[in-house]
Amino acid sequence: MPADLVFRNGPVICVDTAYEGAEAVAVTAGRISGVGTRADVEGAIGPETRVVDRGGRALLPGLNDNHNHPMSFGEALGWIDATPAAISTLGGLQDAFRARAAQNGGGWLLARGYDDSRLDIRRHPTRYELDAATGGQPAILVRTCGHLLVANSAALERAGIDANTPDPSGGHIDRDAHGAAVGLLRETAMRLVRDLIPEPTVAQIKSYLRAAGRRFLEYGITSVGEAAISRSEQFRAYQELARDGELPMRVFTMMLIDDTLDSLSSLGMITGFGDARLRIGPAKVFQDGSGGGRTAAMTVDYRNDPGNRGITIYDQEGLNERFTRANAAGFQMAAHAIGDRAITMILDAYETALAAHPRPDARPRIEHCGICTPEHLRRMASMGVLAIPQPSFIYYLGDSYINNFTEEQLSLSYPGRAWIDRGIVAAGSSDVPVVSADPFVNMRSAVTRLTQDGQRMGPDQGVTIDEAIRMFTINGAFASFEERIKGSITPGKLADLTVLDRDPRSVPADELHTLRCDMTVLDGHVVFER
Ligand SMILES: [Zn+2]
Repeated sequence: MPADLVFRNGPVICVDTAYEGAEAVAVTAGRISGVGTRADVEGAIGPETRVVDRGGRALLPGLNDNHNHPMSFGEALGWIDATPAAISTLGGLQDAFRARAAQNGGGWLLARGYDDSRLDIRRHPTRYELDAATGGQPAILVRTCGHLLVANSAALERAGIDANTPDPSGGHIDRDAHGAAVGLLRETAMRLVRDLIPEPTVAQIKSYLRAAGRRFLEYGITSVGEAAISRSEQFRAYQELARDGELPMRVFTMMLIDDTLDSLSSLGMITGFGDARLRIGPAKVFQDGSGGGRTAAMTVDYRNDPGNRGITIYDQEGLNERFTRANAAGFQMAAHAIGDRAITMILDAYETALAAHPRPDARPRIEHCGICTPEHLRRMASMGVLAIPQPSFIYYLGDSYINNFTEEQLSLSYPGRAWIDRGIVAAGSSDVPVVSADPFVNMRSAVTRLTQDGQRMGPDQGVTIDEAIRMFTINGAFASFEERIKGSITPGKLADLTVLDRDPRSVPADELHTLRCDMTVLDGHVVFER
């Protein structure tokens, strides 16, 4: 059978040592059917074959962004873009709210992405500063990390938050000297307001996923991990898109354990159910907050912030109980943990769960895995725990990390080098919309450890470009138990491919973020072309 697609004339980064040095690839019926020299695939060219002459551009496996939030990414594309790249001043934020308020029919005004350390005022805006621009309409402004938000007075009023409202467990309401809320809500306190915003319908979620998917494909990303399924409408939206052949990328879904474990396990569902387009992934909990927002759970006080050691969501017993049940039910285990105290608690819980129900190849995951001590590394290696970091946090959030953490803590944060040297599998991801989905900024950060301001955060933890490519291809496939069907350019594997404008191995490390995706192939179909 002649090939549908043939790629020739350029380097092929196979991520499979058996095919190193290949220069041509053939694709037939959604699978990679040939890898080798130009002569090796020449015979596969028939009259209908599309031959892509790459003129020296590199061909890679489709990229894998192993932890992100496609639904909120797609939704946030319709919110006010308050990221530092778009708006860097309080006045600019107010202008954006004013403009949106003028065309808004009284519903919620939503903005996302500000970073207090990058705003001109170098602090969080207050409710009153939002009030000045929102004219009585309820508004929220979510910080870049997603763990803090500022609500205006109309939003606080609707939520019934006043001086008498206690802090909810696992959260904090920032107050002035008289006890009145100033607008900033941390962690679970955000729910007091967020729960008032109508949840999107299945149809809306589907449109968010289509929008997010288009962006992923433009970046050469063909597989993602959906990091937070908590409502039936969300899983239904994914299923309907997959059923109708409209899910733009491959997805595995992390199920938030607190909301879904009982119903999933009572139906006997397990990690891996589904197919190569949509698959049930791990059972996941959130255990702490963010490093930039100083809510990640630490064993010592934050620098210049006496008494603050961050926030934990569950106590040890609660974690042990949940993961023991999830593991026994057949789920891969996953937890959001950034601070060293949170990571210890998660490793303890995984150890307890696996001791109760040993599984040979459990691949438990720690999402983010920010501050990793040598003891953590030892335990992760011996238990086969995977790290799911976001190297581009170093670029986008690194300067606030440098403010919040000591030199020693920074040398242990997102330790790419140490993970690889210890044989710990690290799968790369963006956590979009927390920061941009751009995989090339991500790879540059993994290699150079450069922050936005040009500082180097724990420079000894840099990895090579080949290692960074593995993090965003085969390691991601391994993290969802799919390394046998994708993640490398190997005959027989799914034909998910991306053509980059240059060969990343010959681009200077500091310029890796200037790489562009020129073409994306998913399941043997060209789904994006610049
Ligand atoms: Zn996340």
